[in-house]
Amino acid sequence: MNEKIILVTGGTGLVGCAIKKIIESDAKSDEQWIFVGSKDADLCNKQSTEALFRKYKPTHVIHLAAMVGGLFHNMNHNLDFLRNNMHINDNVLQTAHETNVVKVVSCLSTCIFPDKITYPIDETMIHNGPPHPSNYGYSYAKRLIDVANRGYFDQYGKIYTSVIPCNVFGPHDNYNPQTSHVIPGLIRKLYDLIKDGNTEDKEFKVLGTGKPLRQFIYSLDLAKLFVWVLREYNSPDPIILSVDETQEVSISQVAHSLARAFEFKGRIVYDSTAADGQYKKTASNAKLRAYLPDLKFTEFDEAIKESVDWYRNNYDTARN
Ligand code: NDP
Repeated sequence: MNEKIILVTGGTGLVGCAIKKIIESDAKSDEQWIFVGSKDADLCNKQSTEALFRKYKPTHVIHLAAMVGGLFHNMNHNLDFLRNNMHINDNVLQTAHETNVVKVVSCLSTCIFPDKITYPIDETMIHNGPPHPSNYGYSYAKRLIDVANRGYFDQYGKIYTSVIPCNVFGPHDNYNPQTSHVIPGLIRKLYDLIKDGNTEDKEFKVLGTGKPLRQFIYSLDLAKLFVWVLREYNSPDPIILSVDETQEVSISQVAHSLARAFEFKGRIVYDSTAADGQYKKTASNAKLRAYLPDLKFTEFDEAIKESVDWYRNNYDTARN
């Protein structure tokens, strides 16, 4: 039996930690999983990337490593997001090709789709127009993964593919106020607000109007889907990994769910002078559902509660 050696780049991040957790109870005997972070190799650097591949000799790669950030971090660093992610992605894909890796699963995002588009978004629309101006650097770098995957298939017949998750949240997220996504950012804010007392006079301030709509997937649900894609999905074309369209929630619903999880006693207020970003980016998971019609996602409130409990229990070591 040929052993699969599966290298997970970005293995120390939100999604990587979730895959590691799923694999603890779902590893197959012919699979060896290796999770690496930026301490193991700087994937912006080709030599460092080559050394990593020489060390582990992967046959398969799940490529998660990326410069990742929330709306406000993206708006101020578009060039850094473009360049760092272009370098990381080209180094990983080309080194995988040069070392005969048979399959790579890379990670795009629903936030890279065109700004002006018809809803729901599907996999065929990635390149149909410019992305939202807030995150064009990240978006174009990610879109190029899909272009490269097509090239590796056309020129070499390689199954280098990609998945397109909606917004992800869960344990091991990035809670730094300057760089975090909306859910971990709000978890941190609420935690700090009530750590000296959960009283009725406290105001939980949410940036923006609270009206934008988003689909959020729990990192552990996404992790199971990543493992499925690695084992079963064999097309270079991307596949959206998202909750259903009916499971879309507003930022205001997110804030209320967090308030319930923290048993917050104060008031939620909205700072409508702050940017909202794209109003919605509803994605269709019809392609995924065609493969996995019985797939069930964790209830949003339950996943939020687990994420909040994890943060409370791991505050000292979390990425604050
Ligand atoms: P995190 O920010 O939690 O983790 C990023 C990972 O990338 C870390 O393991 C980090 O290593 C690694 N990394 C960053 N820069 C480098 C580098 N130069 N060299 C080597 N490793 C590096 O990200 P997520 O887990 O949230 O995201 C994983 C993937 O999912 C990304 O590709 C992202 O674009 C995509 N995605 C994320 C969404 C989300 O809502 N979070 C939504 C849709 C897609 P270390 O920590 O050791 O520094």
